[in-house]
Order: sequence, then C-alpha cells, then structure tokens
Amino acid sequence: MEIKIANLGRSYVQDDKTVEAVKDVSIEIPSNTIYGIIGKSGAGKSTLVRLISLLEKPDSGEIYYDRKRVDNLSKKDLILQHRRIGMIFQNFNLFYSRTAAKNIAYPLEICHVAEKDIKKRVKELLELVGLADRADAPISTLSGGQKQRVAIARALANNPDILFCDEATSALDPQTTRSILELIRNIQKKMNLTVVMITHQMEVVRDACEYVSVLNNGSVVETGTVKEIFSNPKSEVTKDFLSHLTSN
Ligand code: ADP
Repeated sequence: MEIKIANLGRSYVQDDKTVEAVKDVSIEIPSNTIYGIIGKSGAGKSTLVRLISLLEKPDSGEIYYDRKRVDNLSKKDLILQHRRIGMIFQNFNLFYSRTAAKNIAYPLEICHVAEKDIKKRVKELLELVGLADRADAPISTLSGGQKQRVAIARALANNPDILFCDEATSALDPQTTRSILELIRNIQKKMNLTVVMITHQMEVVRDACEYVSVLNNGSVVETGTVKEIFSNPKSEVTKDFLSHLTSN
C-alpha cells in the first residue's frame, strides 16, 4: 500500500494560543517499505501519525492510500479502513486482564471471526512473533520485548496493509530494540507491509528504515533514502541527530 499525504495541517488551541502541530506536510511513502519519520519531542510526530492513520482529521490537506482519498471517508468506511491498519505503541496498549493469546484474539473477536479460525490464526501469529510457548501467559508476566511481540501479533491479526509503529522501541533496552526491529523487518518482507516508523532515535532509522523524513516544528525539513541522509545530511536538525548516534 502506497501512502501519499499532501499539504497536511493540524492546529490545536492551548491556553488561548494556537499551536501548529503539523504544518503543510507532504510525504510520499512507497509501498512495501519501512519509512521512518524522526523528530525531537514536540516536533509533531504523534499528531502526524494520528492523521496518517486516520485516527484524527487534518484541518487541511489530503491523504491517499494507493491513490484513493481516505481523509474524508464516511464513518462506516473509516471503520472498515481501520481494520486494514495495524498500530503499535511505546506503552504496548495491551489488555492486562487477558493472556497473550487472548490479546491477539481480540481484533478477530471484534470482526466476528469463527472461534476455530481465531484459534488457528492466533497460533500462527504467536509463532510468527516467536512466542508460541507463551500463549497462556498473563501480560504482567512478560518482559517489555515480549509485550511488544504480543502487540505486533495483535496488530497483524487482521492482515493489515500498513503497520504504524509509534515510538515502538523507545521503552526497550538496545538489545531488545534490535530484536524487535529485526522482527519488524522480517514481517514487513513476509507480509509485503508498508511500515511507518515514528521515532526520536536515529539508531532506529539506521537499523530498520529504507527512507526517512525529518520533522522539526511541525514541518518536514529533509527527506530521502536513509543512505543519502546518513552520507549527506543537509539540515542542522539532521546533523544534530546524526552527531548523537551511538554505535550500539
Ligand atoms: P511529538 O510526538 O513529536 O512529541 P506532538 O505531535 O505530540 O509531538 O506535539 C506537537 C505539538 O502539538 C506540541 O506543541 C503539543 O503540545 C501539541 N499537541 C499535540 N496534540 C495536542 C492536543 N491533542 N491538544 C493540544 N495540543 C496538542
């Protein structure tokens, strides 16, 4: 699924002042790739991901999935479109009252999939994320990396076209981060997914992404392949990110 966003804008009113969280952002995300969006805290990343994933409507601009306009869908079409989108977050957003398997089953239950098909699909997904032996584990007994694996499996349950990762590895140590990024890379290839990765860590861009856009104060200041940006950064913000890159 190719994603195109054109001239997106979104403002909020805070203490009687208008904050332009996203300003005239245009990005083309090719199909079947991992695309990074990097920016410091407050750059507008979370707002942008809420807009691209259709959780929130922009004030201005347009969003296309495979050339189909999606920012103005009816409520019914929006619900259907959301089922084709997977999302994972820094804090996992899992149900602590459910086991690993029951978390993964949840989106399938919502879609009224037959019980025996849910069982089969959950088993496949647990295997895909390397947690076949933890099906019945309560979430509280899992490590951070294992929790994110459950969240990834749940996000993929309905075979989405797009996976949004919003600071998905920010709460994890470097070694666990690497293993989660490797899993995302493998899944991207296996499922022909378009992955949009929101991060403030250049290590994540380096280790997982093919393309990157650098966001600063709500605007895109630089876009290119990760190779290009790493070998020839143009903006000060990008140079600053690169100068803080660690070697682990
Ligand atoms: P990032 O994810 O890069 O840290 P955000 O998108 O969260 O950036 O925030 C960008 C700016 O928009 C910030 O100034 C933030 O305070 C403001 N903002 C984001 N969401 C809201 C909201 N729901 N209401 C008011 N202000 C918001």
